Amino acid sequence: MKITNIRLDRLQLRLDPPFAAAWDPRPRERFDATIVRVETDEGLVGIGSGDTMDGFPGHEHLFVGRDPLDMAQHVRTIETINFHAGRFWPLEVALWDLLGQVAGLPVAALLGNAQRRVPVYASCGELKAPAERAESALALREQGFRAMKIRIDRDRIDEGVAAVAATRDAVGDGFEIMVDLNQSWRMAGDVQPALDYATVRHTVERLRDLGVFWVEEPLPYQDVAGLTALRSATGVRIAGGEMLDSVGQILGYLDNDALDVYQMDVVLAVGITRARMLAELAHLKHRAFTPHTWTNGIGVLANLHVAAGVGGGPYFEYPYDPPGWTPERRDFMLAEPLRIDADGCLAVPPVPGLGVRLDEAAVRRWAA
Ligand SMILES: [Mg+2]
Repeated sequence: MKITNIRLDRLQLRLDPPFAAAWDPRPRERFDATIVRVETDEGLVGIGSGDTMDGFPGHEHLFVGRDPLDMAQHVRTIETINFHAGRFWPLEVALWDLLGQVAGLPVAALLGNAQRRVPVYASCGELKAPAERAESALALREQGFRAMKIRIDRDRIDEGVAAVAATRDAVGDGFEIMVDLNQSWRMAGDVQPALDYATVRHTVERLRDLGVFWVEEPLPYQDVAGLTALRSATGVRIAGGEMLDSVGQILGYLDNDALDVYQMDVVLAVGITRARMLAELAHLKHRAFTPHTWTNGIGVLANLHVAAGVGGGPYFEYPYDPPGWTPERRDFMLAEPLRIDADGCLAVPPVPGLGVRLDEAAVRRWAA
């Protein structure tokens, strides 16, 4: 089999003003998605998405004419392009989708089939007042979720801790709450300093008293010693690494035992092939791996196959914060949005490949 073409469809979902304001405090008028299709001479097409692929055009010749199943070669080639230009893992995701189709198996099966479905947490992006956040948690529990993640703004720590406290009061025990401090994740142009170690430690201790399951990105990526110290000082699980794209840096984290939960996103950070290896290494050290998924439905699917394949968990990120962020918005390019089952789990589609079914009318409608 030969790759005949790599097609990129650039989409922009235009957002209405209330949604744009709810999603992010900064004005945001569109949600960008790029769909990658790897076309072959045998008519099979692999699909990937999750990052914009900006800067990729001009590199197609490194793949066209080659066998799409030569995965090791393609991964190394993508790494050499990323070295100069960007994060082109959605192309590798499309190649894995093809590989699954050729094998007649879900990608998760090719990665080990540790689980058929994964319990999820509702990942909330919006900053809500305590009473409103508590009310949203009750609604989530009603819908079957067993866990949720609350974002705390580094400039509004007290308000964020109050939202977590109100949520805990509302849901009691038996419902897990994660907290994201986003100290590594930056919007372009955000050069405000991160919180210092003493402030972070105090905050994590306050969250520990509220029974928080993990605290995510409490410190910037470069503060490996701080992360290690924070783990032993507080006894709270520390998660992070969603955008860590250097395998060397991640190996350094593992050597220094910097995290309890590794979260490298396969579409944004490391790809499927490397994620599998890094997840296995984390598991060999008795540490957890559960990937970040804050992209679109195809990105969520790619990460789901990896989490299910390697045994990621204990909870998988399901971006969901209605009314602003819903499955319909997140998965607008899919024929059917990804939904949880009654037990709060997301199941791997039992079909060959990733199980992406595009809504071609939506792809045309939202073409950039
Ligand atoms: Mg995060």
